[in-house]
Amino acid sequence: MDNTTSMDHVEFTDRRSLPMMALRGLTVFPGMMLTFEVERSMSIAALNMAMSDDQIIYLVPQIDIATNIPTPEDVYGVGTVCRIKQMMKQPGSKTVRVMAEGIERGRTLAVRTDMPCFVAEVEPMPDVAERKTARIEALIRHCCNLFDAYVTVSGNMAPESVITVLGSTNAGFVSNFIAQHVFLRPEQKQELLEQTRPSRRLTLLSKMLLHETSVLGLQHQLEEAAQDRLNQTQQEYLLREQMKIIQAELGEADDPDSESTAYREKIQALHLPEESEQRLLKEVDRLKKQPFGSSEASVIRNYLDICLEMPWNTRTEERLDVRAARKVLDDEHFGLEKVKDRITEYLAVRQLAPDVKGGVLCLVGPPGTGKTSIAMSIAHATNRKLSRISLGGVHDEAEIRGHRKTYVGAMPGRIINGLTIAGSMNPVMVLDEIDKLGSDYRGDPSSALLEVLDAEQNDHFRDNFMEIPVDLSDVFFVLTANTLDTIPRPLLDRMEVIELSSYTDEEKLQIAKQHLLPKQRKKHGLKQAQLRVSDDAIREIVTLYTRESGVRVLERNLAAVCRKCAMRFVEDDAPKKLVITAANLEKFLGPRRFLPDEMPKSDQVGLVTGLAWTSVGGTTLEVEANVVEGTGKLELTGNLGNVMKESVFAAMSYIRSRANELGLEPDFYKTKDIHVHFPEGAVPKDGPSAGITICTAIVSALTNRPV
Ligand code: ADP
Repeated sequence: MDNTTSMDHVEFTDRRSLPMMALRGLTVFPGMMLTFEVERSMSIAALNMAMSDDQIIYLVPQIDIATNIPTPEDVYGVGTVCRIKQMMKQPGSKTVRVMAEGIERGRTLAVRTDMPCFVAEVEPMPDVAERKTARIEALIRHCCNLFDAYVTVSGNMAPESVITVLGSTNAGFVSNFIAQHVFLRPEQKQELLEQTRPSRRLTLLSKMLLHETSVLGLQHQLEEAAQDRLNQTQQEYLLREQMKIIQAELGEADDPDSESTAYREKIQALHLPEESEQRLLKEVDRLKKQPFGSSEASVIRNYLDICLEMPWNTRTEERLDVRAARKVLDDEHFGLEKVKDRITEYLAVRQLAPDVKGGVLCLVGPPGTGKTSIAMSIAHATNRKLSRISLGGVHDEAEIRGHRKTYVGAMPGRIINGLTIAGSMNPVMVLDEIDKLGSDYRGDPSSALLEVLDAEQNDHFRDNFMEIPVDLSDVFFVLTANTLDTIPRPLLDRMEVIELSSYTDEEKLQIAKQHLLPKQRKKHGLKQAQLRVSDDAIREIVTLYTRESGVRVLERNLAAVCRKCAMRFVEDDAPKKLVITAANLEKFLGPRRFLPDEMPKSDQVGLVTGLAWTSVGGTTLEVEANVVEGTGKLELTGNLGNVMKESVFAAMSYIRSRANELGLEPDFYKTKDIHVHFPEGAVPKDGPSAGITICTAIVSALTNRPV
C-alpha cells in the first residue's frame, strides 16, 4: 500500500464554496499534516465557519507575506483544500493553534467578500495520472538521496522523516512530502504546489534541493568557523579570569587591566607626537595580552617604564642674561677667556634669535686645564641641567645608540640615559674624552655620534631601544678632548673647536689662590682664618711638586696640605691657625718631587738649550754634541724619531756647505766622528723643530766656541 495519508473518508471531487483563509509564509501540500498559529480575526472567522460545517477550509498562500489585511487579489489563485483536525485556543491570547491536513489542490474560481471571512468557489485540481516508468523511479530515488543529504546537513529534522519517503514509489506523495519539509522560499513552494505533474514536481524539487544543500553546507562552514573562534575566545577569557584569581590569591601583580589603564593614562598625559603615542599604546595592548609573569611581559614593562621615565616635556628655562651668565663663569673659573666669550656670544645670539638650537662646542687641551669643569659651569651659567657622559674606551655603537629591545638586558644608549638622568630635554651634555672613542667589529660609535651631533637630523634621533624619535636639538653639547688628531674628520666638522692651552706658573698661582684653595678648604671643613698659604708656598708647589700643564696635581697637593692641617687641628695641642710658607712646606708635603732645572752657569761648548713641547706643557731640552778624531761617523743617541734624525743630517749638510765661512777643514766630515746626544734618553723625541739647535751644537763643538 502507498504511504498516502488517509484521504479515504474526505472527498473533494467537485467544485464547492469554502471559507478561505490567507496563509502567511506557509504552504500546505495535499496529503500533508501541518500545525500553525492563526491570529488575524478574518482568519479566525474562516476557521469558525469551517468548524460549524464539515471542517473543510480552503488555505491559500499570500503573495506578499508582509500584507496585513489581504484582499482576494493578494493571494495566489491556487491553494489547498484542508480539513481542520484540531483547533486550540491559546490561553490569555487571541492566537489559535490549528492542526490541518491537506486534502487536495484547489483553484479559486470566485471569491465573495461580503461575509465575516472570504468565501471562495473552489474547483479541485488533482495530480495528473502518470505511468510508473523507470525514469520516474530514478527521479524518485534521486530526490530521496538529495533529501537525505539535505536532512543530514540541515540537522534540524529527524532522520526518521527520511525513512517515510525512502520506501515510497508514489511520485506524488514523495514530491509533496519533500516539498512540505524542506526549507524553501514561499514562491518556490507555490511553484511546486501549482505543478500538477508529479514527475515535473520531482525535477523542479531536485534542482531546488541541490541548491539548498550546497547553500546549507556553506552556511555550516561559516557557522563552524564562527563557533571555533568563539570557543577560542571563550577559552582565553576563562583562562585569563582564572589567572586573575590565582594572582589575586598569591597577592601578585595587580589586575592587568588596571596596569594597562595606568600605562595608557600616563602615555596619553605625555602628549607625544601621534606616531610615538600609537607606538607606545600598541605595546600596552601587547602587554595586556601577555600571561602574567611571562618574560615577554617584563620586557614590555621595562620598555614602557624607560620610555615613560624620559623627561619628554620637561625643560629648564634658559638664562639668557649675558651679564649674569658671564658673572657665573667668572666666579667659577679663572682665565679661559675664549670659552667664556664663546658662551656669552651664544647667549646674545639666543636672545636675538630664540630659534637657534643647541650648539656643539669642543674643548681641546691638555688634561687638568678645566675643560670638564668649565663645561659644567656652562650648565650653571645658562640654567640648564647637566649630564656628563664619558666616552673614553667606548667601542660599541650600541653604547651610544642602545640595543634593540628584543635582546636580553637591552638598554637605551648613553645619550638617552643622559637625558633621563638630567631630567630635562635641554641640558648641557658633556661628552668627555671624545678623542678616546674606539671602533671595532661592534660598529662605529662615531657614526652614531654623528647623528647625535648633526643639527640637521638630531631633532628625531632614534635610539635602537626606544624606537620612537627623540628630539636632541635643544641639547647643548660640550665635548672635551686632549687632542684633535684622533677625532674622526666628519665629527670634527660638526663642532666648534676651542683650544685651551696649558697654564703658566703665574696663572696656576692665581687659579690656586682664587679657586682651588678655597674649594679645598671648604671641602676639608677649614675656615679661611685657620689656614693660609703664602704665594711663595703655592709657587713652590707648582714648580717643585708638580710638572703638568693643567692644575690637577696642584689641586691634589693643596688637598693634601688641607688634610694635614685638618689633622693638626684635631690634635690635643691644636694651634689657632696655620700658615704655610715656602719654608715649612716640606713638613706638609714631604720632600720635593722635582728639582728646578739647573741652568748652566756659563756658556758651554757643544751644549745648547732648546725648547720642547710635551703633553704636560713646554720645557727646556738640552742638546749635546761631541767631536772626536775618527773616520767621519755620525752617532745619534737619545731615542730620536725619524724626523729628528733627518734634522741632524740636514744640519750636517748645512755645516759642510758653510765649512769655509765657519773656518772648518773641507774634509772635516771624513776625519772627525760626531756624536749628538739628547738627554732623558728614555723619553721618545721627534719633530722637525730642533734643527737649528742641533746645528748650533755641532758647529760649537767643531769650532770649539761656546754657545
Ligand atoms: P680637564 O677636564 O681639562 O682634564 P678638569 O676640568 O677636570 O680638567 O679640571 C681639573 C680641576 O682643575 C678641576 O677641579 C677644575 O675646577 C680646576 N680648574 C682647571 N682650570 C681652572 C680654572 N681656569 N679656574 C678654576 N679652576 C680650574
